[in-house]
Amino acid sequence: MDSYKDKGARRLLVKELKEKGILDERVLAAIQSIPRHRFIHKDFRWHAYQDKAFPIGEGQTISQPYTVAYQTQLLHIEPGDKVLEIGTGSGYQAAVLIEMGATLTSIERQEKLFIKTRKLLTELNYKANLIYGDGSKGFLPDAPYDKIIVTAGAPRVPESLIEQLSTGGILIIPVGDSKVQTMHIIIKKTDGTLENISLDQFRFVPLIGNQAW
Ligand code: SAM
Repeated sequence: MDSYKDKGARRLLVKELKEKGILDERVLAAIQSIPRHRFIHKDFRWHAYQDKAFPIGEGQTISQPYTVAYQTQLLHIEPGDKVLEIGTGSGYQAAVLIEMGATLTSIERQEKLFIKTRKLLTELNYKANLIYGDGSKGFLPDAPYDKIIVTAGAPRVPESLIEQLSTGGILIIPVGDSKVQTMHIIIKKTDGTLENISLDQFRFVPLIGNQAW
């Protein structure tokens, strides 16, 4: 159920995100339309429209709305973009990307979360290629991708993700240690070289996997 109260709470959240510097109207429109309370345990739904991360089980979290908006804004999603998300988690970031018109492949390494989120996204009619596995290696069968987003803190940039990025493609990845990570935008230029820009600091749960150390 998505009540007037939920919609009103989302309007306040969108206002807060604007004040914090999220200016992409398409990102804000997606956040306004997605029932974030459905991605959090129903007993805690009143936390859904606060700008904070929240536990989703298996030691993982749904990212803070500001972080979701920040990463999505950097991706410059265009309808039809082929996007890879590493760390499906609750599925909320996936919903934002799909709502904006992305053709999404999303990978999650926690089996219980993968099963739960697949069910929820189906219920909410968000269609994506959801994969259970280690996303630190990317996902070769659907490559190359116009955009890749990593939603867990990586100790380094996995080589496979660079390889699976299209020419002109954008990779957004938080890189650092277990305490703090710096958000990086990596652009694969037409001559094959990489432009790597580092931005603000965040704190994510760790990326765990074969190419994550
Ligand atoms: N995008 C998520 C959302 O909207 O809820 C945020 C999820 S949480 C911050 C990060 C997720 O990355 C966790 O669910 C974790 O299990 C997952 N993860 C960590 N390492 C991974 C890997 N190598 N491959 C796939 N998922 C991974």
